[in-house]
Amino acid sequence: MRLLVVALAALLAAAPPQSPSRTVLYFGHAWDGSRLLDAVTIVVEGDRIASVTAGQARPPAGAIDMRHYTALPGLIDLHTHVTYYWDRTPGTRPLGQRRRAAVTVFLAQENAMRSLETGVTTIRDLGAANENDFAMRDLVAMGAMKGPRMFVAGQGISAGRGGTPDPAAMGKLAEDRIKSGSDWVKVYASRGSFDSVDTTQTVTFDEMKAIVDAAHAQGKKVAIHSYGAAGVKDAVRAAADSVEHGIELDQETLAEMVKRGTVWVPTIDHNRYYVDAKDDFGFKPESIAPLQDYIAKNLESTRRAFAAGVKIGMGSDAVFTMFGQNTRELEWFVRAGMTPAQALPTATTIPAELLDQKGRLGRLAAGFAADVVAVDGKPLENIADVIRGVRWVMKDGAVVVNRPAR
Ligand SMILES: [Zn+2]
Repeated sequence: MRLLVVALAALLAAAPPQSPSRTVLYFGHAWDGSRLLDAVTIVVEGDRIASVTAGQARPPAGAIDMRHYTALPGLIDLHTHVTYYWDRTPGTRPLGQRRRAAVTVFLAQENAMRSLETGVTTIRDLGAANENDFAMRDLVAMGAMKGPRMFVAGQGISAGRGGTPDPAAMGKLAEDRIKSGSDWVKVYASRGSFDSVDTTQTVTFDEMKAIVDAAHAQGKKVAIHSYGAAGVKDAVRAAADSVEHGIELDQETLAEMVKRGTVWVPTIDHNRYYVDAKDDFGFKPESIAPLQDYIAKNLESTRRAFAAGVKIGMGSDAVFTMFGQNTRELEWFVRAGMTPAQALPTATTIPAELLDQKGRLGRLAAGFAADVVAVDGKPLENIADVIRGVRWVMKDGAVVVNRPAR
């Protein structure tokens, strides 16, 4: 017995340190974050990409052969509410279902999975109740829950009801959010959500500035929601890192965004979703025309913002049954004048930089996280292939989606 123990110990001591698992992928094409490459071998070691090599006529021995697919970096959805879950029980609506926080977190795995299936391997979640988003973020990071990696804001900051503006109190609120675990601070600076397109600004410039200054002092960033132009203008001037939604943006605001590098996340597609899902939500028929009107104005501002050189980010603003449609925003961006090659950075390199993950996410390159999406079709010619052609997804070196071709 003792001999055996000694022998085992000797064997263990002699064993080389455990090397990370190695996977070799072979694609017909790959868009690496800036260029389209042909005949590409991607070597994955553990959760990282070890190398990307183009121009190999045939797959190396032992490679997973995906020569009929184009590889893209894992996509990033900059605006979700992944903890908004509806179980579709007949007679209920998405809004108003009540359940315990832990039950919601468990059920919301389905939203997380639907997102992965669209090639989204990272989300910035901008607003949740009961710290449900903190729980999901942590469970995903532990590997205990399957889902995109999450950067989360906790509960958004809204204007106090009927009170006078109080910048100091707002700055304190931002500090409290960060202390409790928020990666980002989210501010609701105007009305407007679901079937309401009310553009009324509710948070003052001084309050926004106090929030941004408090967050930046802690090394955290701020996303400001504004449905109307005045709120967007104030958010940009207050040094928000990203501005969510918005219509009728004037040229001065667009120029200021370019100068400051503010990322604009127009979320055009979420109102399309509300129109499509109006019966599930029980929206009144008279709310539909204003939603359509907002979509048209939202698209028009996106067209001008893109032409002006504003950094634009893909955010779905997905809630409830919109998960699985996370990337449909890209179609609007192409309508706003982008080529597919110009639209893809809105879901990869631009969000990666905004999230301070420039050297880790948004590209297929050595040293980056092994987040790889295999797409059927020609994503650089037809953006619909990105939206509907995702067949296989790897996140942090593990295959999380594997769907046979049609
Ligand atoms: Zn939102």
